[in-house]
Amino acid sequence: MHKVVALLSGGLDSTLSVKIMKDQGFDVKALAIKTPFCDFDCGHGCGFKVMEVADRLGVDLKTVYIGDEYIEMLKNPKHGYGSGMNPCIDCRIMMYKEAKKYMEEIGAEFIITGEVLGQRPMSQNKRALKIIELEGDLEGKVLRPLSGKNLEPIEAEKKGIIDRNKLLSIRGRSRKTQFRLAKELGIVEYPNAAGGCLLTDPQFSKRVKDLLKYVNKPTLNDIELLKIGRHFRLDNSKLIVGRNKEENEKIKALALDDDILLETRDYKGPVGLLRKDPNDIMQASMIVLRYSDAPKNKESTIISNIGNNINVIPIDDKILDKYRI
Ligand code: SF4
Repeated sequence: MHKVVALLSGGLDSTLSVKIMKDQGFDVKALAIKTPFCDFDCGHGCGFKVMEVADRLGVDLKTVYIGDEYIEMLKNPKHGYGSGMNPCIDCRIMMYKEAKKYMEEIGAEFIITGEVLGQRPMSQNKRALKIIELEGDLEGKVLRPLSGKNLEPIEAEKKGIIDRNKLLSIRGRSRKTQFRLAKELGIVEYPNAAGGCLLTDPQFSKRVKDLLKYVNKPTLNDIELLKIGRHFRLDNSKLIVGRNKEENEKIKALALDDDILLETRDYKGPVGLLRKDPNDIMQASMIVLRYSDAPKNKESTIISNIGNNINVIPIDDKILDKYRI
């Protein structure tokens, strides 16, 4: 039986691709790639249980996490960003490289993906697919079963290992064909189509841009903080203010030794995390107080984990907007 590696996100497209190749008699080994911005592959499957999907498909699954290396690439992606801070082409190249490593490790002959020609403007046009394949060092070795008939035959098709007639010719953003196919193949549970990973979200992208501007070597801890709270850029620091109990707890858990944690003393309110310059503590305290139950225009007390009490009035909303990221 011919072995093949599938980039599996848990989303419908990659699930269908696996199913199509299994039905052609291939021994499919799935590979799921996590990044700090996406649980699996290309957003379609974010948060979805890729292990359950692999189980239901009856395929082995390996998971690979690309962390620091991904953040480094994000600072200056060779092929640029999409509409947000999503470096789709460079991201896919990294994923392909992981797939290639796995392919060689287990002696597979090619890889398959759920990519659909024309579905995503940046990374799924013919030119981009070619670049990703070339720079991922997988020329002629990537099959996209959902759009196979619209693309050049890959090596394994030329050798007669794959039946090209059984590939599909889906093109574009409409997902009608995929939904129909899912029904025919008995795939009932799959996540709703999403626009991509967190990096495609405009609000989140602003936070990423700000982080990359001010922090030379962002860490995974910096990235995790981007996912929660309200964010403010102060003169020399960054302030993150929790929006609910759960975020307050997360902020405390992510605080590092040099971070300053701020909370209201006498009123219900959020946790604020000030990172970098203690001189910004007054400004930060005024903001934390603004999101508490403390009265406006009246001085109240903020307590910090470095032992001092700060008496301030809540910041004015017009001034606050100037700091908001
Ligand atoms: S949306 Fe783009 S950057 Fe995000 S996981 Fe998909 S390919 Fe990568």
